[in-house]
Amino acid sequence: MKNHDFNPESLMMTYGYKPELSEGAIKCPIFQTSTFVFKTAEEGKAFFELAYGLREKSEKEELGLIYSRINNPNLEILENRLCLWDKADDCAVFESGMSAISTVLLEFLKPGDLLVYSNPLYGGTDHFIHHFLDKIGVHTIGVMPDDSIAKIEAMMNTSGKANRLAMIYLETPANPTNDIVDIEKFKELAVRYSTDDKKALVAVDNTYMGPLWQHPLQSGADLVLYSATKYIGGHSDLIAGAVLGNASLMLRVKTLRTFLGNMVSPHTAWLMLRSLETLKVRMDQQTQNAQIIAEYLEHHPKVEKVYYLGVLQEGTEAHDIYKKQCSAPGAMVSFDIIDGEKGAFTFLNNLSLIKLAVSLGSTESLAEHPKTMTHAGVDDTQRKQMNITDQLVRLSIGVEYVKDLIWDLKQALEKVEVITAAEAEII
Ligand SMILES: *Cc1c(COP(=O)(O)O)cnc(C)c1O
Repeated sequence: MKNHDFNPESLMMTYGYKPELSEGAIKCPIFQTSTFVFKTAEEGKAFFELAYGLREKSEKEELGLIYSRINNPNLEILENRLCLWDKADDCAVFESGMSAISTVLLEFLKPGDLLVYSNPLYGGTDHFIHHFLDKIGVHTIGVMPDDSIAKIEAMMNTSGKANRLAMIYLETPANPTNDIVDIEKFKELAVRYSTDDKKALVAVDNTYMGPLWQHPLQSGADLVLYSATKYIGGHSDLIAGAVLGNASLMLRVKTLRTFLGNMVSPHTAWLMLRSLETLKVRMDQQTQNAQIIAEYLEHHPKVEKVYYLGVLQEGTEAHDIYKKQCSAPGAMVSFDIIDGEKGAFTFLNNLSLIKLAVSLGSTESLAEHPKTMTHAGVDDTQRKQMNITDQLVRLSIGVEYVKDLIWDLKQALEKVEVITAAEAEII
């Protein structure tokens, strides 16, 4: 039995933690400490040599604990457990999703480089690209969900910067419309524009699917990023981020993290260890609920269109990519309601169990209006192109009893009035 391959959900309670090092405690304590005592000066010297890359690690050697900005048991155990879901070599946890994202962009881009990214992006990422990367002279090309690879290559060639492609940054499925792109195809594009001494990387923000339903590293991505505030934390009570990838890329990410000092705190890491124990059961329940809700909304007379991976038409390109790339449709359901912003606001103001708040992936269900809330900063024309209109509502589905959620949606939708043709004329 020693060699049995356990599934990640079976290992989330124990993996990487040695009770004998903590008075036999079944649970990993919080290592609320800034620094660690060396047994001898020789040991301290050896740890620093490894930490600063002054020599290669010998076969059996492990980096000892030095100082909590460099390493801490809560962070290390959390990182080792997160690696299991994405089958990654290594992981780095951060104090927020944005610090994970900005650290990756800072480490792998320099002035004069080209960054190609998918639209729509998370608002904070979009802001960092346009207000910071632009300022330091990184060239950027934003692509729309329906742009073909041929069109993207044409845009890259027209820019005159194609030979400086350093990174393709993707968010798929996209927030809030669940538009999906093919990670493998973007990987092929990155490979075409890579040379022996300059490799173009593919990074994927996988927050929308969490570590369960899509594994970008398996589809060819070099780095996968998370806002761990969402599914990984899962209880709307912490802010954190994570990056995973191969050992050599992660060494660079962790080194920059050491010097920016934006690692997560031991207490937040400990909360995430607790969250990971229920990740699978939470996310399974959330996606089951979401599928039932999406199907209910599809047949509701006050709903014009539902944006959810679980109701994609078979035979469409999006459906094909979804089947290839994802193992479940997720728990984010968006829909177009009748009567524009007025209809959307009436619906949101009348919800009772579902809370009106941004964020996603938590145990409780949330609803929001992307156009005036999460995506208020997006350029107007682009917003229209991406179907983020007055009538779009976004739901994050939680673990509640699904019939209670449907009751709530039904009663809030009832408050939205159907405008008759005669009324429309008076307006
Ligand atoms: C929330 C979110 C982020 C930012 O994460 P924080 O933890 O809030 O810093 C990045 N990307 C996506 C897709 C998100 O939903």
